[in-house]
Amino acid sequence: MAKHFLGYVCSLCKRQYQPEQVTYTCPHDGGNLDVELDYAAIRKEALASDWLANGEPSLWRYLPLLPVDDHGGQATPLRAAGWTPVYAPPALRSTLGMPHLWIKDESRNPTASFKDRASSVVVARARQIGAEVVVTASTGNAGAALAGMSAAVGQRAVIFAPRTAPPAKVAQLLIFKAGVLLVDGTYDDAFDLTIQAAQEFGWYCRNTGYNPFTAEGKKTAAFEIWEWQRQQTKNGHPALKNKPASVFVSVGDGNIISGIHKGFKDLQRLGLLEQMPRIFGVQSTGSAAIANAFHAGTETITPVSATTLADSISVDLPRDGVRAVRAARETGGSYVLVSDEEILQSIAALGVAGIFAEPAGATAYAGLVKALDLGLVDPQEPVLVINTGSGLKDVKSATRAAGEATIIEPTLQAVKGWLSAQK
Ligand SMILES: *Cc1c(COP(=O)(O)O)cnc(C)c1O
Ligand SMILES: [Zn+2]
Repeated sequence: MAKHFLGYVCSLCKRQYQPEQVTYTCPHDGGNLDVELDYAAIRKEALASDWLANGEPSLWRYLPLLPVDDHGGQATPLRAAGWTPVYAPPALRSTLGMPHLWIKDESRNPTASFKDRASSVVVARARQIGAEVVVTASTGNAGAALAGMSAAVGQRAVIFAPRTAPPAKVAQLLIFKAGVLLVDGTYDDAFDLTIQAAQEFGWYCRNTGYNPFTAEGKKTAAFEIWEWQRQQTKNGHPALKNKPASVFVSVGDGNIISGIHKGFKDLQRLGLLEQMPRIFGVQSTGSAAIANAFHAGTETITPVSATTLADSISVDLPRDGVRAVRAARETGGSYVLVSDEEILQSIAALGVAGIFAEPAGATAYAGLVKALDLGLVDPQEPVLVINTGSGLKDVKSATRAAGEATIIEPTLQAVKGWLSAQK
C-alpha cells in the first residue's frame, strides 16, 4: 500500500472514498475521482531538495507523490517513462518573436507518447492489486503505452482501438504482444465496449478519464516543468524569475490537461509552488467539445461528432471534460481552436527545429500560434509547449505536411539540376 495514498475525492460532488472503496468513477454521479494524498506527511518526509538530489531519470523520481508502490528497481521501459527533455528552439523563437519559448518533447518516452506516464503508473497499480489482465480503449497511443509497459513487466494486456487507428500505432500493439481488437466504430464505441468487457471478464480497466490513476501518472509532467523552472531560475534565467511559463497542451479526452493541473495543485498543497502557471488547452475545430464548454462558460460537456485528422484528440464525448475545463479556467488560461490545416503547418514548423510531432502533438504549437494572434499571450512571456507524441506514429500525416521527396537519376547532372531548381 502506497503510504501517502489516502483515497479519492469526487470532482463533482466532493464525496470522499477510501482507497479500496471504489475503483473507477464516483458511484454517486459518475464524476472523475481526484486522488488524495497525505500532503502533511509528504511535507515532513520528502522535501523538494530530495527530488533534485535523487538521480532517478524518470517519473519515478516523484515516488513519494504517487499513489502506487515502487515497482521494483529494474531497468525496464516501465521504469523509463517521463523525465523528457525541454528544448530552447532558436528557429521557432525567431519565427514567433518569442525569446522565452520552450518545447517539452514527450515523443522521447519509451513508446513515443505522453501516454507512457499514465500507463507506467496504471501498470504499477495493476501489479499491486494483482490484476490478471489490464484493458484499455485507445485511439492508439494509450494502447501502445499500456501494451509496452505491460510487456516490460510481464503483465497481460488487451487493447480496443478503432480500426482507423494509424498503422504504426497498431504495429506497436502487435509487437508488444497485447490482445489487439480493432473495433469497427469510433474511439467512443471502443471506450464503451471496453468498460462492458472489463465488467464481464473482471479485467482491470485503464480507460482515460475513467481510471483515476492515469491522471496521477500524467501529473508528473507538471512536477518536471516545476523542477525545470527551478533549475532555470537557479541558473539565473531572467524571464522565469517572477513568472512561471504558461503551458500549452493538446486536448482530446481532457485527461492530460487535468493531470498537469493536478500536478501543479499537488505542489501548491505542499507549499512548493509560488505561482500557478496559466494552462492553455488546444483542440481541433473538428473535435472541440471541451473548448465549446469553456467558451460557453459552463462545465456541461455536449458531445460532438469528431472529424479531425489528429486521431489522438478525436473524441466525441470527452471523458475528463469537467476537470479539463477547470484546468484552464482556474489558472487564468484558455482554450484555443485550430484547424487541421494549421495542425499540418505546425508539424512542418516543428520539423524545422528538429522536432518530429504527430498531428495531436503539433496541435499545441498550432494553439500557441493562434493564441499569439488572438493576443492571449504576450510574445515576451515565458511559454512551454508540450509535444505529446512522435511523428513516426503517423507518417501519412507527416508526408501531407512535408510533401514528397525528389527522385533523381544517380548522376551529378541530376544533382545540379536539383540545385538550380532550388534557386
Ligand atoms: C492522448 C493524446 C492527447 C490528448 O490527451 P487527452 O487526455 O485525451 O486530452 C494528445 N496528444 C497525444 C499524442 C495523445 O496521445
Ligand atoms: Zn460524485
